[in-house]
Amino acid sequence: MELHEIRKSYGNVTVLDGVSLTMEAREFIAFLGPSGSGKSTLLRIIAGLETPDSGEVVLDGRRIDTLPPGQRDVAMVFQHYALYPHMSVRENMAFGLRNTGVSETEISARIDQAATALEIGDQLDKKPGQMSGGQRQRVAIGRAIVKNPALFLLDEPLSNLDAALRTRTRVELAQLRKRVDAAVIMVTHDQAEAMTLADKIVVMNDRRIQQSGSPMEVYGRPANAFVARFVGSPP
Ligand code: ATP
Ligand code: MG
Repeated sequence: MELHEIRKSYGNVTVLDGVSLTMEAREFIAFLGPSGSGKSTLLRIIAGLETPDSGEVVLDGRRIDTLPPGQRDVAMVFQHYALYPHMSVRENMAFGLRNTGVSETEISARIDQAATALEIGDQLDKKPGQMSGGQRQRVAIGRAIVKNPALFLLDEPLSNLDAALRTRTRVELAQLRKRVDAAVIMVTHDQAEAMTLADKIVVMNDRRIQQSGSPMEVYGRPANAFVARFVGSPP
């Protein structure tokens, strides 16, 4: 996946001002940055839910910023889950796969497998409103997993889980990543999570990418004072 000079403003407020990034196949990237630095906006642009004012998004050598969301080989887990309240968990997870040529048997099998891995196998008949925040969060992760996308966009996917469940889900994400052939971009406020899961860390602030590099690079050789402060590098 490549981003070329993405720009985005809301009214007269510029949120992203020339964001470029190259992502390798199967790479796991963690986005770090303060609240309001444009992380979710960038994910929505890649997913096609938001149109950049200028710039290009390229996936597998093909420009996708001109394609509707349904035709992009990406799946997003939203910061606030965005589940359909009137549908059961099973229907929520199946929704993105309907009319894509995947058989009902295969859809069911994928849902059962993902739900079991995420420890919500016994919740499939519930409505999202009958679940806890952490359970809803795992439904949102499951809904992305069953799509088998080339690129996962995860917006703080573990933020609502208790410590033990977060660790288990983190392990699950790491295994998922080995199992499927996908790249992952994950927004997180948890540096330990970024350091353990990610091949590359991207630090955003002030409308731009401040630094991108391996966890060791970003932590050991911060590009500027902001990054050093933000990741808490030793002086
Ligand atoms: P957080 O860590 O709090 O989730 P973020 O880095 O994800 O923050 P964004 O949600 O991308 O930040 O928001 C970046 C900026 O864009 C913020 O100042 C926000 O107010 C603004 N913004 C986002 N979406 C809209 C919108 N639809 N209309 C107007 N302003 C918006
Ligand atoms: Mg956000």
